[in-house]
Amino acid sequence: MPDFDVVVVGGGPAGLASAIAARRQGLTVAVLDCAAPAIDKACGEALMPESLTALGEMGIRFDSSTGLPFRGIRFVGDGCTAAAAFPGEPALGLRRLALHRALVTRAEASGVALHWRALEIELAPGGVRHSRGLVRSRWVIGADGQNSRIRHAAGLAAASREKRRYAFRRHYRIAPWTDCMELYWGANCQIYVTPVGPAQVGVAVISSLPHLRVDAALAAFPALEARLRCAAPCSSERGALTVSRTLRSVQRGRVALVGDASGSVDAITGEGLGLCFRQALALAAALSHDNLEQYQAAHDRISRRPRVMAQMLLLLANHDGLRGRVLRTFAQNNQIFERLLAVHIGARPALQIGVDQILRLGWRILTV
Ligand SMILES: Cc1cc2nc3c(=O)[nH]c(=O)nc-3n(C[C@H](O)[C@H](O)[C@H](O)COP(=O)(O)OP(=O)(O)OC[C@H]3O[C@@H](n4cnc5c(N)ncnc54)[C@H](O)[C@@H]3O)c2cc1C
Repeated sequence: MPDFDVVVVGGGPAGLASAIAARRQGLTVAVLDCAAPAIDKACGEALMPESLTALGEMGIRFDSSTGLPFRGIRFVGDGCTAAAAFPGEPALGLRRLALHRALVTRAEASGVALHWRALEIELAPGGVRHSRGLVRSRWVIGADGQNSRIRHAAGLAAASREKRRYAFRRHYRIAPWTDCMELYWGANCQIYVTPVGPAQVGVAVISSLPHLRVDAALAAFPALEARLRCAAPCSSERGALTVSRTLRSVQRGRVALVGDASGSVDAITGEGLGLCFRQALALAAALSHDNLEQYQAAHDRISRRPRVMAQMLLLLANHDGLRGRVLRTFAQNNQIFERLLAVHIGARPALQIGVDQILRLGWRILTV
């Protein structure tokens, strides 16, 4: 007899969300993680409106004392500034530690068995083995992040594409100066500034250069550097890889992958957490129907839009001339930027942008 219906390996956002969603389907669930809460990670810490909706479906809502809502995105670069508001509810800037605590609290209240500091985890016949013994389960969910061992052990590592970039983040004690998340575009990197509290912002640098740290990157953005010069850093600098990876398959036999373990989009999209939560809901529904093929189809569907948006944003990151034109177009025509932002966050289907609008956008970019 299995001990649990589901064992989840990895108690990060994807693993905990999967556990909570599976409990809501009436399944018994255990989570194993080699670390202990609250678990931090280098992240832009933006929860887009769609991510908040998915968390709401799992019974997780944040009151006004947690994080800081922001109403849109501002692009800064190539001599201009362009801002676009979200069409509906605001997004939320939230420290990873606070997000992790909220997920752990919800998982405990849902009746998930949580095993922290579980080491040497490996797939075993009938379940998962770790340093303290064997946990028998019907299904295993691999939610162990970018370097997933479950992905390799289950023979799911084959990727149709894979590209890596590098990121560092640090927090500063300063009142946010805007109600938007800002994305600064430079020749070698992008910098995200996310308001995460009434007196705190997070700064995340993303680049193809492995050694580009926050201070060195800020030097290329004098206005931002001047703002932060008087602000005290309030977290240590933390690095991470950001990987664009598409797997051929995210399930096999009794194993399914979720979150970064199941493939990921570049951090420039701010969509990784939203993907985790939507995949978690889809996976729980598929498990309740005993049908992991259903999850594969849902995973493909959920990942499609963020992948396309990531490719568009990386195109801007890599082509200075094109980026200058696009930013100037957005600055001069805020409606175009708002429509594309609505598509980016899933509030508007891409097909609703008509051919005439795309042609007009193309013409503006060419002539601006
Ligand atoms: C610089 C940067 C900025 C980002 N900004 C944003 C943003 O603004 N908004 C957004 O939505 N997304 C953002 N993302 C993406 C987001 O951080 C990830 O998609 C998300 O953290 C993935 O969650 P996960 O649970 O799949 O993986 P992780 O968060 O990596 O969690 C994996 C868990 O598995 C555990 N684990 C790993 N290996 C083992 C093992 N062998 N045994 C046991 N346990 C193990 C770890 O301890 C960890 O708890 C950003 C990413 C980066 C790198």
